[in-house]
Amino acid sequence: MKPSVTGNTDGWARSLYTEEESYRDTLGTLTAEGKRRWLYVKQTVGRYTTARTILAGFLLLFLFGMPWLRINGRPLLLFNVLERRFILFGQIFWPQDFHLFVLGFLVTLLLIAVFTMVFGRLFCGWICPQTIFMEFVFRKIEFWLEGDAMAQRSLNMAPWNAKKIFRKGTKHFLFFGFALLIGNTFLAYIIGTEGVLELIRDTPAAHPGSFAAMMAFSGAFYLVFSQFREQVCIVACPYGRLQSVLLDNDSLVVAYDYTRGESRSKLRKGEDRATLGLGDCISCNQCVMVCPTGIDIRNGTQLECVNCTACIDACDGIMDKIEKPRGLIRYASKTGLETGQGFKFKPRTIAYSSVMFGLAGLLGFLLFSRHDIEATVLRLPGTMYQQQGPDHLTNIYKFELVNKTFEDKPIQLALMSPSAGTLRLSNNQPLVKVLPESVFEGLIIIDLPRSAVQGSHTPIHIGIYQNGQLLDEIKTSFMGPVSHLGKPNKVK
Ligand code: SF4
Ligand code: SF4
Repeated sequence: MKPSVTGNTDGWARSLYTEEESYRDTLGTLTAEGKRRWLYVKQTVGRYTTARTILAGFLLLFLFGMPWLRINGRPLLLFNVLERRFILFGQIFWPQDFHLFVLGFLVTLLLIAVFTMVFGRLFCGWICPQTIFMEFVFRKIEFWLEGDAMAQRSLNMAPWNAKKIFRKGTKHFLFFGFALLIGNTFLAYIIGTEGVLELIRDTPAAHPGSFAAMMAFSGAFYLVFSQFREQVCIVACPYGRLQSVLLDNDSLVVAYDYTRGESRSKLRKGEDRATLGLGDCISCNQCVMVCPTGIDIRNGTQLECVNCTACIDACDGIMDKIEKPRGLIRYASKTGLETGQGFKFKPRTIAYSSVMFGLAGLLGFLLFSRHDIEATVLRLPGTMYQQQGPDHLTNIYKFELVNKTFEDKPIQLALMSPSAGTLRLSNNQPLVKVLPESVFEGLIIIDLPRSAVQGSHTPIHIGIYQNGQLLDEIKTSFMGPVSHLGKPNKVK
């Protein structure tokens, strides 16, 4: 069969194809008629599966436990987009900190790009919540109730009877239970655990909107993990699509060592495979049977591969049995397989990494130097200068103080320059008390002697103090009269 150049591989094993190559033009999860081919995935055991199970346990504990952790009675993490209130590791962030989120988002994007270039889809296989939930929660329930792949297939094809109804019913009941748990946990990251507990304690009629949203989210999670499954990674996830442009010959991916495995053929008793020119792959198909996206890794790197390592463990098990070295399928790059060389940093990786570390450093600096009090002072819209006797002018300003902490903040505003001027609050109080996590708005009046006024825009500096300590300095301008010669008018 003549190899086709279309399809979903990067072509690195093209010249070696001797078998059926229809995989290039088809999806492993579609039948010839275009219908969904349900995957019955075989259970795996092995060192990678063990390591991933341990990591998944920690990640699940982190995800479900984090909303319940508190620092001084406040959540450790909160992303309340409804009230625009965000708490990251005890630090409260406001919409005024939006630039930090944008910068954080850029750093994350670059991190993903660099990480994918170097380590391929490692994130998908080890950390992605979709994989963790699917493989370590929902698929585990399925294995427990319905058995391994063959048993699941038999149960699906069997006529409905009490045993099948019980197993399927229990499975979907548990699936929906976990979907509810996931839905409520994500909700807890938005409205806090107190909000979720209130929703649970009250009747649905007391919070119809929230109840509908929670059921919709839980229903979506249930459908994803009971029906849509691997299709999320194959057709829906944008990160999977990004791979095509990020991976190159030096990226570390789960790879079949075709130089060692080919030519593949079934193992026959007593044969001397080396003499016959045969490779180590014995065409047992175990690597295909354990693949959660239904592909054959021997066809090369494919878009569907989530780097879950199941095929590595399956193949290592076979290699152990036939007494060959492990690693016929392993983490490797195309260059590494061809040349036997180890990992090397390339100019593209170094350039992306430098930009990423630069932005991360800037983000760290901005986070570190972030003020507890965010102050804004603007001249009151629609107002001009006011004359105060023959020698003084005043301007009125509106100020806003955002307290980003969980404590009261007694704040004093004072005019730093010009030194000849004065500043007073419109209520003549010396201080304002800004309550925790709140915004204080008020008016200030600045009085300048005419001698200090430099035309229409006199630069002024206002200090924001707490207990005599300068927290921030605001620069703005004072409006005064201007003569046609560019000098202040005389006020009569
Ligand atoms: S598990 Fe290993 S030996 Fe078996 S088909 Fe896959 S690559 Fe070949
Ligand atoms: S090819 Fe291997 S690593 Fe990739 S998804 Fe399938 S089993 Fe996982």
